[in-house]
Amino acid sequence: MYNSDELRLFSQKARNGLCSHAYIVDGDAGIGKLDFALECARALLCTERDKPCGYCQGCRKVLSNEHPDVYIIGREKTAAIADVRELIRRSFLKPNDSDRQIFIVKNAGKLREDSQNALLKLFEEPPESVTIFLLTESRSSLLPTVLSRAQRIHLDGMRDFEIAEKLRECYPELREREINTAIDIARGNLGTALKYLSKESAATRLKAEKLLVYALSKQSYELTGALLLPKYKREQLAAVLYELTVLLNEAEKMKYGVPKYNLPQSPELLELVKGASKKALAKMGESAFLCMTALENNANVTAAASKLAIELLSAASR
Ligand SMILES: [Zn+2]
Repeated sequence: MYNSDELRLFSQKARNGLCSHAYIVDGDAGIGKLDFALECARALLCTERDKPCGYCQGCRKVLSNEHPDVYIIGREKTAAIADVRELIRRSFLKPNDSDRQIFIVKNAGKLREDSQNALLKLFEEPPESVTIFLLTESRSSLLPTVLSRAQRIHLDGMRDFEIAEKLRECYPELREREINTAIDIARGNLGTALKYLSKESAATRLKAEKLLVYALSKQSYELTGALLLPKYKREQLAAVLYELTVLLNEAEKMKYGVPKYNLPQSPELLELVKGASKKALAKMGESAFLCMTALENNANVTAAASKLAIELLSAASR
């Protein structure tokens, strides 16, 4: 999800009739570029004063994907030149329901050069009633001539307080501490925060936490059992090891006196981390990481897990 500043600005401009004909909307994958463009479409097609009102027929039709004056190409796969030509043909027709037509091109950065050049003609002499949005992850994949003809809207990730609001909505039972941890990890991406808080992730983290407790307390039998007995599939073990590297990284932060770190509140684990040397934690993190890489490169899962058990125990004694 993107942060809402750009949308607020666009809506204000739409209310005052100050919108341009062509926009390039860029931002990371999954940030919600299409949603953003559709919100802009609502602001442009809304018939009420307070655009977008959300209630008028225009607003509702855009929301339910039924507005005849909103046309999207490149939705399933990158638009071909034929799709672009169809869009241009439509741009010279009169709008159906309103006084404006909205065109949205998804994955515009992946358009072939001939497609981009065809669009350029539309940009140069846009029909009065047309607004076009090109959506792309990276501006650099668009032709400089296209870039120079369109206004840029860059979508940033959500801000921490916006993510916190959403998380409290989705997980009212969560404590502030858990929300803050999820926000730290999310770095502006709501999806990452939600994934972090999912039951599955929590279970994986718990497994990693156990591994670390066993390793730091040198319980070799328990450690080997925890790594081998569940008969993990490759990607399951890799997921646990990923959490283990995160955990070790946070443990190192604590040891080095970094003010902000995210370790579970388990008194046992905190005591063990306090007692461990920085060298041991670093070495364990390295072993977990190398094992994860080996798994990605098709190493035998049982062999990799056994090797890791030995390495973690030897690292813990440092
Ligand atoms: Zn409306």
